[in-house]
Amino acid sequence: METVDVCSVNVSELVTSSFCANWSEDNNLSIITEKGVHVFELQPNPLCPVPMPKFKRSFMYPTDNLPTEILLSDINNQLNTYSKNEFYSLMMDSPLTPKIYDKADHIPRIITSIWSPIKLAQPSKCLLATLTSAGAVDLLFKSGKNWFSICNISTIWLDIIKNKLESIEPNKHHDAVTFRNEARKLQATSIAWSTLQQSSNKFYCYFLTSFRSGDLVIWRIDQIPELSFKVNATMALNIQVNQSSSTTSTAERITKLCWITLANNKHVVIVGYFDGRIHGIELDDEPEIMTEISRKKYIDSVDKMPVTSIQSIKLTNGNTHVVVTKNFFIISLILNENGDLIHNNYIKIMGFSITGLVIINETETIITTQNGGMHFIKLNEQSKLTSSQINNESISKSLKVQYRGLACSPSKATFINVTSPNCQHDHLINREPSILQLFHLNIENMNPWLILNSSECNFNIHWDCLEVIRIKAAKSIEPEDVLPIIDEELETMSIHKLRITMWMTLITKVLKKKKILKKIDNIVGEISEAQPLIFVNSVSSYLLKLIDKNNLNDYNRLSMHFLRLYLEVYLAGEDDTKNTSLTKENITVDYAINAVKMTSNMDLIEVEACNLCGEIITELPWIMSNCPKGHKLPRCALTLLQITCLRYKSCPTCGRLYHPSLDDDYDQVRCIYCDIPAIYDPRIIGVDDDIHENCKNLSVKPIWEIQASKIPQEI
Ligand SMILES: [Zn+2]
Ligand SMILES: [Zn+2]
Repeated sequence: METVDVCSVNVSELVTSSFCANWSEDNNLSIITEKGVHVFELQPNPLCPVPMPKFKRSFMYPTDNLPTEILLSDINNQLNTYSKNEFYSLMMDSPLTPKIYDKADHIPRIITSIWSPIKLAQPSKCLLATLTSAGAVDLLFKSGKNWFSICNISTIWLDIIKNKLESIEPNKHHDAVTFRNEARKLQATSIAWSTLQQSSNKFYCYFLTSFRSGDLVIWRIDQIPELSFKVNATMALNIQVNQSSSTTSTAERITKLCWITLANNKHVVIVGYFDGRIHGIELDDEPEIMTEISRKKYIDSVDKMPVTSIQSIKLTNGNTHVVVTKNFFIISLILNENGDLIHNNYIKIMGFSITGLVIINETETIITTQNGGMHFIKLNEQSKLTSSQINNESISKSLKVQYRGLACSPSKATFINVTSPNCQHDHLINREPSILQLFHLNIENMNPWLILNSSECNFNIHWDCLEVIRIKAAKSIEPEDVLPIIDEELETMSIHKLRITMWMTLITKVLKKKKILKKIDNIVGEISEAQPLIFVNSVSSYLLKLIDKNNLNDYNRLSMHFLRLYLEVYLAGEDDTKNTSLTKENITVDYAINAVKMTSNMDLIEVEACNLCGEIITELPWIMSNCPKGHKLPRCALTLLQITCLRYKSCPTCGRLYHPSLDDDYDQVRCIYCDIPAIYDPRIIGVDDDIHENCKNLSVKPIWEIQASKIPQEI
C-alpha cells in the first residue's frame, strides 16, 4: 500500500510532542507545537485555480494558570526545614513547585488538546479542551481569530476541594508529604470527552479529568446555545482510582483516558496508567445521576511502559474495539456490550515509539512511528493483529524527518501527517520547521471521489474530498486526467448528489478553462444546471415545512407567495421542455408540483414594499435587486425576503445571506448550496465585546514569550 501526496503546508512553530494532531468533526485541525496549539480550519475554496488548500489559521498559547500556586505562599518559607531528600524531590517536580524563590518559574506548555463532539456549541461547533504541563485544564472557544478560555476547570475543582486542603492554611507548619499529596490533588494529568449525550431535549457531554493524586472527576458540560459562551460545568462524579500496584506506594499517574458509551446510560471509562496497566470503570447515569458500578482490570501487569494513546470504535455486532498504544506496541481490546474483555491481542511494530494513530474502520488502523515509518494494522477474523508497511515515498528518506502525529478528516478520505526535522540541534531548524503532509491512501475504497460519491448525506463533512480532487488537478499538467467524470442525469439526483455535481462542475470549469469566477451568488444556473435544481429542491422542502406550522407570520406568508411564483415559473418552463423531449422521471419536478399543490388556497401576502422607503415593488424578487427608487435590496438565498436588518446569517463559504425568520423554522440554518451552517457575524451581534471582557484571551502572547523575545536585544 502507498500514500498519494496532495500537498504540504509549513507550521511556524516546531512540533516535538507525539500524537500532536487532532482533526475535529467541524473540520478544524489542531497541532500541538512547542509554544502552543496551532489550529487550521479547512475552508472550502472551489473557485481557486492554485494547488493549495485554504486554511484559516489561529494560535493559542498555554494558560498562565498554575493550579498548585495557591499552596506555595507558605511552603516557600518552609522549604528549608524539609530534609534534603524531600526538598530536591519537590524541586525537581516543577508542576508541583512552579513558583519558588530563587528558582526559574515553570513555563507551562500545552501537552494535550482534544476536540469535543460536534454540536456541543451551537451552531455545529466543537470546543477545544487543553491540558498544560502545570496541570491546568481549560475549555476554549474561538471567536473571530482569537481563542478564549470560557471555562477554567482547574479553578472550579479548587473551589470544590479548597476546604479539605491543609497546606492552604497560613502560618502553620506543613510537612512535605502532606504538601506533596495535596498539590498532586490539583495537578491534572489527562483529559477526555464523552460522546454527545441527550436527555429529553437537552444535549450535553461528559468531560473527564484525572489528577496526579488518583482522583478521577467527571464533569457534565451542557450544550452552549448560539451567540453565547457561558459554560455550565457541574461535577457529576468524583472517584478515587488510586488502587496502587504493589510495587509503588503512591498513586500511579493516569496518562490517558477514553470514554466509551456501551448502551443507553451505560458507559465505561478506560484508564491507562504510566506503569502500563489498563483498567476500566463501569458507570451508570440513570436517571441523570452518575454512579460507579464496577471496576475492571483489562491488563493488570506492570510493564513500566506508559500508555500513550487510547482510541475506540463501535463494532456493528455491538462490541467495542479499543486500540491502545504503548511505546512500540499496539494493543487491541475487544469489549462486549457489558464492557467485559473478550479478546486481547498485541503486536510489536518495528521502529521507534508510535507517534500517531488513526482508526479507519472496524478492523483497520494506520499508525506512524517516530523514525518515519507508516504502518497499516489489520485485525483479522481470529482477532489477531497483522501489520504491513505503507510506502510514503513523497517524504523522501534522505530528508531525515521524524513523524509526530497523524489525523484523519471526518469523511475519512484525507489524512495529515506531521513531520519535524530529525536533528533537533540542526541550524536549519528555524528555517525548516515542521510540515503538515496532506495525503490520501492509494486503495480502491479510500479514493476521495469514491468516498464522496458513495456518501448519501452530510455534504458539509465531505468538502475535503472536493478540495483534494481540486488540488491534485490544479497541480497536474493535464487536469482532465485527474478530474472525475461528472454524472449528468440530474433529473434523478437527490439534493446531496446535486450539490456534488454543482461544485464539481464549478471546479472543473475553473481548472480546465482557467476561468476566474469571482462570486457565485445568483440563482440563475449559468454555471451548473444543478444549481437551480438545488434551489427548487430546497424551496419545495421549505414550503412543505411551513404547511406544518400552525401560525404563519407575515414573513412566511410573503415568502410563500414568492416561492410559489418561482416554482410556477420553473414548472411552466419544464412543461415546455417535456413536450419536446421524452418523458422521464424527474424527482425535482415531482417535488415542486407537490409543494405547489399543497400550498394552494393559503392566505398569502402578495404585495411587497421596499423596507427602506415603502415603495411597492412589482418586479419578481429573483430578477430585480433594486426597488423602483433605486435602493439596493439584498435578499435571502432561500426565502427571497429582503434583508435590511443587521441581525442576519450568512454562509462562510459562498457568502449567501439567510433571513433571521428561518431561525424559527430550522434548528440550524444551513446554506442550501454548501450545506455549511450559516452564522452571524459576532462583531455585529456584540458577542465579541462580551467575550473579550469576560474571558481570558489565550491568543495574546503571554508575558514569558514577550520576555523571551526581548532578551537578545538587551544583550
Ligand atoms: Zn426603496
Ligand atoms: Zn454557501
